[in-house]
Amino acid sequence: MSHLSVAKFGGSSVANYPAMQACAKIVIADPNTRVVVLSASAGVTNLLVALANGCEEPERNKLLGEVLQIQENILNELKDDSAVRPKIEALLDNITSLAEAANLATSLALTDELISHGEMMSSLIFVEVLREFYTQSTWLDVRQIVVTNSHFGKAAPNDEQTRANSDRVLKPLIDRGELVITQGFIGRDEQGKTTTLGRGGSDYSAALLAEVLDAEDVLIWTDVAGIYTTDPRIVPNAQRIDTMSFSEAAEMATFGAKVLHPATLLPAVRSNIPVYVGSSKAPQDGGTWVTRDPQPRPTFRAIALRRDQTLLTLSSLNMLHAQGFLANIFTILAKHKISVDTITTSEVSVAITLDKTGSASSGATLLSNELISELSEFCTVKVDTGLSLIALIGNALHTTSGTAKRIFDTLEAYNIRMICYGASTNNVCLLADSDKADEIVRALHKSLFE
Ligand code: ADP
Ligand code: ASP
Ligand code: MG
Repeated sequence: MSHLSVAKFGGSSVANYPAMQACAKIVIADPNTRVVVLSASAGVTNLLVALANGCEEPERNKLLGEVLQIQENILNELKDDSAVRPKIEALLDNITSLAEAANLATSLALTDELISHGEMMSSLIFVEVLREFYTQSTWLDVRQIVVTNSHFGKAAPNDEQTRANSDRVLKPLIDRGELVITQGFIGRDEQGKTTTLGRGGSDYSAALLAEVLDAEDVLIWTDVAGIYTTDPRIVPNAQRIDTMSFSEAAEMATFGAKVLHPATLLPAVRSNIPVYVGSSKAPQDGGTWVTRDPQPRPTFRAIALRRDQTLLTLSSLNMLHAQGFLANIFTILAKHKISVDTITTSEVSVAITLDKTGSASSGATLLSNELISELSEFCTVKVDTGLSLIALIGNALHTTSGTAKRIFDTLEAYNIRMICYGASTNNVCLLADSDKADEIVRALHKSLFE
């Protein structure tokens, strides 16, 4: 096989039977696509997360009913569901038992086991949809391939073991000309327990599999025809970016452009694998190619928005002319496995936002009482929520004259809580109240891109 592509279809692309049919047509039309990575049908993972967080009756039954309904709607449209129906019913029974267990005592491992069922169901059903188009495929449990550490909810893959499994199990299937259908988002740890890569992690799975297979490209099929200058849901006349660099896409993903999971670009950059983003509903509309060094590189590339940010302001008079204050803070944050996102400092205080990108599957909050009380021992801690981070992404932003004026003139009418400018040549970040964030994105987009 000369050209191998790994295709990934996201939740809305496999939300229902007609959407799955559109995906099947894309797969069949492209002989290079030999590995297909699927997300759970839209809405399923959210429901499973709610069940995994522990849920009493009658709420539990209601949520289980909603999961069942999404799968049932697809099964009912299959011409022959006799082969797959018992498998889906067995998985639904498992979900019920695991949800009961979670209501007694939740655990991160149990959560991952439970929420992995969404991808298991969608991938089993997709094999049947392909069959209706006279296309034979091989269903593969991705846990046979993707090995991770045991950081449940946001597990990190073990690249060497994953590659070894791929060489042993996956490559031979592809060499035999089989079309492999598998799951995104999930893996297993060394004890064999199910893990997940964090919400939205199926993009990452696809890029990882492409890397260990030495594939030529990763095709991310989603509900938008590419990566746009900002989220088209916020700015309907955002423009599609036809080609962009790995680093630009990585910045966008990190700062909240949900269209790609931030970790997707890691394997792509490491192994120089181009990533394509297109719409499964309108493949003819074209999309975005993300590659190593496309030209041109405009000063302003895109605007990303990350909601639900937490601002921690830590103040202490002891910080004045003292050493070690920041070191203390970072030691405590590191101990609590918190990565700092943006930061500004003054003589007696430091303001930081916390990185929630690629957050844990359970949606667990980052700020624990233990962390706050440890910090409070040597400084005053103020926590602000209801904030959003707006990131303006571009190239050589700090060396292009007039950049700051163009940005800040537009922001005249708004109250900006924090600004990060100068550390990166590729972004300027602003923190603002969430209820003004969309308006700010629209204003910046209008003045910089329209
Ligand atoms: P999937 O389920 O296929 O993984 P996601 O919902 O995770 O899809 O990502 C696609 C969504 O990303 C789009 O519907 C869009 O609202 C959002 N998005 C955010 N920023 C951008 C952007 N700059 N370009 C395109 N889509 C974006
Ligand atoms: N189903 C998972 C989620 O909703 C993974 C994904 O869709 O990428 O987060
Ligand atoms: Mg996604």
